[in-house]
This record gives sequence, C-alpha cells and structure tokens, in this order.
Amino acid sequence: MKLLIANGHLIDPTQGLNSGKNLLIEDGRVAGLLSPGEAVPEGAEVFDATGLIVAPGFIDMHVHLREPGHEYKETIESGTAAAVAGGWTSVCAMPNTDPVNDSPAVTRFIIEQAERASLANVFPIGAITKGSTGEELSEMGEMKAAGIVAVSDDGRPVPAAGTMRRAMEYARGFGLPVVDHCEDKSLAAGGVMHEGRWSLILGLKGMPATAEVMDAVRDCALAELTRAHVHLAHVSTRGAIDAVRRAKKEGLSVTCEVAPHHWALGDEAVEGYDTNTKMSPPLRSRDHIEAIMEALTDGTIDAIATDHAPHHSDEKALEYDRAPFGITGLETGVGLAFDRLVHKGVIDLKRLVELCSVNPAKIFNLENRGTLRVGAWGDVTILDPELTWTFDVSKSKSKSRNTPFDGLALRGAAAATIVAGRIVFER
Ligand SMILES: [Zn+2]
Repeated sequence: MKLLIANGHLIDPTQGLNSGKNLLIEDGRVAGLLSPGEAVPEGAEVFDATGLIVAPGFIDMHVHLREPGHEYKETIESGTAAAVAGGWTSVCAMPNTDPVNDSPAVTRFIIEQAERASLANVFPIGAITKGSTGEELSEMGEMKAAGIVAVSDDGRPVPAAGTMRRAMEYARGFGLPVVDHCEDKSLAAGGVMHEGRWSLILGLKGMPATAEVMDAVRDCALAELTRAHVHLAHVSTRGAIDAVRRAKKEGLSVTCEVAPHHWALGDEAVEGYDTNTKMSPPLRSRDHIEAIMEALTDGTIDAIATDHAPHHSDEKALEYDRAPFGITGLETGVGLAFDRLVHKGVIDLKRLVELCSVNPAKIFNLENRGTLRVGAWGDVTILDPELTWTFDVSKSKSKSRNTPFDGLALRGAAAATIVAGRIVFER
C-alpha cells in the first residue's frame, strides 16, 4: 500500500521543514519526502493537497471516551470517529470510565476496542490511585506494560500532597508522566463557574482561580522534590501559567496544555445559564484569557488538548447547578485554533503543529509520532487554513451534543486525516 500526498506545503518542525514537499507513505510508515516534480512512485495512490498544509498527525492528549461504562455518552468507536473528523490522528483516553482504568485489564480492553474501530490511535492514560479515590496507588507498572502512556486522576485530583509525592516517585520509576487536573476541592467544592463579577451577577457559586493555582504551585514544588515529569492539564489561570513558567526557568520537567474553550470563551458566556458553558476548570475572566494568549505565544504552554467530555442531552438539560461539567471538543478544536489563534496572529502555523503534534508526542513519549521523518508512522493531518465553515452539531460524529459552539462560523479546518497511511477522514 502506497500513498503519495502531493502538491502540499509540508510543515514538520522536527526536521526544520516548512516548504513544498511530496510525502510518500508505504505500508503505514513514512517512506520518503520527494521534491515537487519527482515522478509518482509506481502503484501509489495520489492525494492532491494543492493549497493545503501537510503536518504530522495531530495528537489530542486529553479526551474522555466514556467506554467502558458510559457508552450512552460516547463509545471508543464514536469518539474516535469524532477525533478523525476533527483532524486528530491520535487521542489519549482519560481513565475516569466505569470501571476506572486502574488495571491492565481495562487498559487492554480500551486498546482492543480502538483496534476494532480502526480510526484514530488511542493511547490510554491510567489512574494514579485505585478507583481514582486519592488513596492507594494503582499498579502503574502493569498498566505501563499493557500500554498506558501517563497517569492521571483527572476530575478527581489527588488531594493529599503526600500521596501525590509518592505517586510522582512511583510514576518516575516507570518513566510515566503524571497529569494533574489542578483543583483544590476545599476551595472549589460546590462551585459551578469562575468566581468573579459574573458569578456575582448570575447568582451562581464560584470556583476561585486560586483553587487551580494552589494545586499548580504544589505540583511544581513536588516536581522539584521528586524530579518526576509533571504535566498540568487544561491550565486556565494566570497563576497556574506563572507557576509553569517559573518551573521551566528552573529546569524542572513541567509541561502543560490548554483547552480551546478557555481561549475562545470568557465567563460572561455563562449569562443565559446555558449548561454547555459549564466545565471544569470553568470559563475564566479576561485577565486569565490574556495570560493564556501570552503563554501560547511565549512557549509556556506546550500543547493544545480538547478535554472532549461528552454528556447525554438529558443530563445537560438540568438546571445549571446540577448539570455535569464538560463539553465535546474534538470537532471544533482545530477550527478554534486557526480562527482565534493563527488568523489573529497569536501563533504561526509552525507553532500550531508543535502544540498539536510535536509536543504531545514528546510529552507522552509516543515514539515515531509527531514527526514525518522517514520510518515514522504515516499519521498525517492535512489542514485547510482558509476554509470557512460552520460547525453543525447535528452532524457531529460524537454521540453527544453538548457544545457551546453549534452554529459558529470558523476559518480554518482539518481537510483530511490519515492514520498509518490510510485516509480515515476527508472533508
Ligand atoms: Zn480535568
């Protein structure tokens, strides 16, 4: 099986490439980079990428696929269909399923279901503690052998610093990054939106930015103590970003990601009480959004991850206080990155590729991904920066419909998604 992606503009920061090149994929792997005008290799299928950007496959580090246990919200098949429709060739699955992914049996089940669906690659993330209860450490070594790429108790962050310290020391021994959802529950419990002017106006209980900052500062201090690799999920506050910036200056192994809704929307969007504006961490005020923009530009933020969190519409139809946290994101993330970041001059295309592909692969040690070097997996995201399109949630591949972006017009999108040399999505 040979595929030639011809006439496109290839951007691969790992090889310093930002020019017209034809990409040849053979038997699932990158087989060569040909100059424009070179003959089409015999027997190759040709994908015409005229006017398009050819990038190493995008990797979403933070996705909730809901299987096993909550298949009515999403399955591995529907979630990976949404992923490839959004331009993601790989997704990393958070462990808060039922049962929690705290054992090699669950890890293997997820990998098998992903192979059956045969759309995006799925890299499971294991729980830090058994059942994500914050107490006993999980069997990280056995899960690593089964295929996890990191550990996290996302959504139910480890409350005790002492437990987190032991978790980091343990994870470090297995070369596993520790991903933390930074939220001090003693400050945030009961809150449903960002604490500030808008929570006051709307009469909703707020979660102070400090709840995120406390854990971010704690985790950076623990990274210094343990020398573990700490990755902060969905940072949304100036204080957490400052903590990461300081940690990086000190040479610590600390990285972080940001979710598209945290730059695309502010807490004023909660006006109207649409439960599709309810997520954790919550939409923030202007000053925090400015901090995110600065950190995207200056390199403090390493990755863009959607935090795709599908919920059934019956659950989201509850009143604001009672509705679950989270929105879908796989099909809108790349569009929001183009429209609000690239086209606004916050980042350039090369940086977009670093944030969505090169850095996620490095952070989770995904070998032969996030690059188009000869021999790497033939995972490719083809981008159309100028395409103007409107997101229509009724056509979403996800089983769930909980998004605040239905009907939004965006400029820029994934035009095609290729996994191991196979075209799995074409717009
Ligand atoms: Zn989270």
